[in-house]
Amino acid sequence: MSDRETATELPPHILIFPVPLQGHVNSMLNLAELLCLSGLHVTILLSDYTHNRLLRHASLQSRFSRHSGFRVATISDGLPADHPRVGERILDLALSLKEKGGSEFRRLMESTDGLSDGGARRRVSCLIMDGVLSFTTSVVEEMGIPYMYFRTISACAFWPFFCIQEIMDAGEIPFKGKNEDTLTYWKKKEMDMMVTSVPGMEKVLRRRDIPRFFGVTNADDPAFQTMKTDTKKTVEACGLILNTFEDLEEPILDEIRKHIPNLYSIGPLHALLKARLELEGMESSPNHSSSFWEEDRSCIAWLDSQPTCSVIYVSFGSITTLTREELLEFWYGLVNSGHRFLWVIRPDSIVGNYSRNGKEIPVELEEGTKSRGCMVGWVPQQEVLAHPATGAFFTHSGWNSTLESIAIGLPMVCWAYFADQTTNSRFVSEVWKIGMDMKDTCDRIIVEKMVKDVMDVRRDEFLGGLIVWQCCRGRRSLKGDLLT
Ligand code: UDP
Repeated sequence: MSDRETATELPPHILIFPVPLQGHVNSMLNLAELLCLSGLHVTILLSDYTHNRLLRHASLQSRFSRHSGFRVATISDGLPADHPRVGERILDLALSLKEKGGSEFRRLMESTDGLSDGGARRRVSCLIMDGVLSFTTSVVEEMGIPYMYFRTISACAFWPFFCIQEIMDAGEIPFKGKNEDTLTYWKKKEMDMMVTSVPGMEKVLRRRDIPRFFGVTNADDPAFQTMKTDTKKTVEACGLILNTFEDLEEPILDEIRKHIPNLYSIGPLHALLKARLELEGMESSPNHSSSFWEEDRSCIAWLDSQPTCSVIYVSFGSITTLTREELLEFWYGLVNSGHRFLWVIRPDSIVGNYSRNGKEIPVELEEGTKSRGCMVGWVPQQEVLAHPATGAFFTHSGWNSTLESIAIGLPMVCWAYFADQTTNSRFVSEVWKIGMDMKDTCDRIIVEKMVKDVMDVRRDEFLGGLIVWQCCRGRRSLKGDLLT
């Protein structure tokens, strides 16, 4: 620290750098706000693209206007503006950042004297960054800035990521032959074999539950390599923050601590932030969206007119895409279940075209939706989950969605799409016992059965599982039969 900084006693200045995707940005903004509440100066580094989305659809400025120590800085993610940044194409983002992010980050840090705002703030005192952003480390090391990782995934997904080399050495990945046989590949018996090379998970993790990337059939795949090497580099940082809590993931956290002793489990961050804001007498989130898409609040009015716990909320997050065939399987399953449903279909989530008004959509789906359903482009999810009419969550098992569901006490049906989701969904069904895992199936009969099970037949069983985690966290917001 310079004399000038010591003299003025400026607070430490934390730079937070999320992967520029919705789920990552949500968790990191929560951390940013918590650090602001502790009196620190915080800069969040966003991609230009992400920042523009937040300016258009979120209320970033009003949310952070009450924290004078908060700033936003931006860099390019290196992709053209019209790149879709969803589905399989998301891997382009990781590769583009890896290729161009280092020089962008160096330029930013050097041209602003470590984001010191002309002396109004200290130069960055600590960097807290996401995974796959290790291109920053040479810059901060040169500038003498310590860094920590904040991986926005669960401990149970981080740990197999960390052990990728060991899983490969055991011959359990990469999955051979997937590209030749995409339709039947996941039905192979060998996908149900237990993974032997991830300590502490021998009894739960099958090959099909390993965190997954599109079409990885060879170990040289660049995105796969980045994931592998970057995760191992976590040991070089001052510490690791995870958005989880000890009671939920203690055995796995203990395994990780053998390699990374400075491990901070500080989640669920959204709940922690809410509690902290309440303590400070500040208004919390519903009016403070960080959405990349415009929230359609008509769904709240629709929920208001539905009976208590009668609606299954369906959302596959911000990255998942569905083929038309998958869309129809889910749609038939939901309609045939006879239950009410609120379904988020993002404008960019269907591969190819589908028409709701044209001939392509069977009339029985249109009718079933009109009488019992509501389909919108994006919702204020935490408000939807907390709504008395919402009874269960049909989710892609993104970690934010999973934690939000656990925190509010909603049982889940899981349809994992990729990455950490395949492991989260396994833990939801087999370890935490708070829902069901549809893993590697997409069939209207299974969807129908799972919706009936989670809303009715097996509901008490899952609520029982949720009580355990709610009690551990000392909360009493459980939905369903326990809702008072
Ligand atoms: N989300 C939302 N509205 C929606 C769908 C999702 O606000 O209509 C939020 C959700 O609350 C969560 C985030 O988007 O915080 C999605 O993150 P997650 O880790 O669950 O999945 P990802 O989108 O990263 O796959």
